[in-house]
Amino acid sequence: MSRPQSPWSFRLATVSGIPIRVHFTFLLLLVWIGLPAGKDAPRAIGIVVAVFACVLLHELGHALTALKCGIGIRDITLYPIGGVAMLTGRPNPKQEFWITIAGPAVNLAIVAVLAPIVWSTGQTLDFTARLGEQSLVVALLEANLFLFGFNMLPAFPMDGGRILRAVLAMRIGETKATSIAAGIGQFLAVVLFFLGVFGQQIVLMIIAAFVFLGAGQEVASAVGHSLTANKLALDAMMTRFRTLSPNATLSEAATMVVQGWQQAFPVMLEGRVLGLLGRDELAGAMTASGPDSYVGGAMRRDYRAVLPNTPLDSVLEMFAEDRTPILVMVEERLLGIITVENLGEFMMLERAKRGSA
Ligand SMILES: [Zn+2]
Repeated sequence: MSRPQSPWSFRLATVSGIPIRVHFTFLLLLVWIGLPAGKDAPRAIGIVVAVFACVLLHELGHALTALKCGIGIRDITLYPIGGVAMLTGRPNPKQEFWITIAGPAVNLAIVAVLAPIVWSTGQTLDFTARLGEQSLVVALLEANLFLFGFNMLPAFPMDGGRILRAVLAMRIGETKATSIAAGIGQFLAVVLFFLGVFGQQIVLMIIAAFVFLGAGQEVASAVGHSLTANKLALDAMMTRFRTLSPNATLSEAATMVVQGWQQAFPVMLEGRVLGLLGRDELAGAMTASGPDSYVGGAMRRDYRAVLPNTPLDSVLEMFAEDRTPILVMVEERLLGIITVENLGEFMMLERAKRGSA
């Protein structure tokens, strides 16, 4: 049921059952930093690795708090511009507040440990120093101060923006809160982008672009969730659909698609579901084994099924991982089928209903 992992990242370790992955561009970052540093390279790379260990601890702060709230974590991936902890569920505003604040809190805790060491050894902070010129403790203290400050900017979907959204959501509801937080986030993204342009900081420009796009996506997802909230799989499923026998040929299936029936067919024998034949399986098998081969050999057996009283929110989340249609079943009995397209139509009608209300 899980989405295949990006081929561009590899698993580094597993902490509390959470896979920790590193994106391969991160290795490029090490080369990019190591090469110009010359004889300081080992020290510079050591500092970068130590800083990313702090980024990982920050993400673990989010992830372990989420697990405590009963929300699953798919994985944590480290990118050159930071880390991402992928939640598998959707926290409510109160949970989001605690999950989010736990990340920067980790950086603040590291600062609290390192600051007395730096202070007692008479070292000073210098944010303009080049990488490798400072002691590891000073570099880490500066990095964690920066990570704390930067993440706490109210630039949704960064941590500060998420905290703002969570606090607003407790008062004015999630959809409105998201659109306000996203508006502030996009405004700040534009400011950051121009600061990046004038300061010739490419990384800052990239981060600004991610914040801008991320804010837009979050609004779309919040609107989507508001439309599916309190609705069940039962409300959105198609109940008029065709099924196929495993002994039907692929060309018969293709004819039904062309005739305008659905794009994915439950494959049934004597009232029991054996599998699902979607557009992809159909097209793939047509090319591989020809139009006269059987549906039974082309269908996927690992179809996904939900109960009719499954919240539509969960169905929406399942589609975020994998767009293949989902069957609505009670034990062996097939009641309906939900596809991305028909869920999209359902949400469009819900939106229209709301518009006229
Ligand atoms: Zn964070």
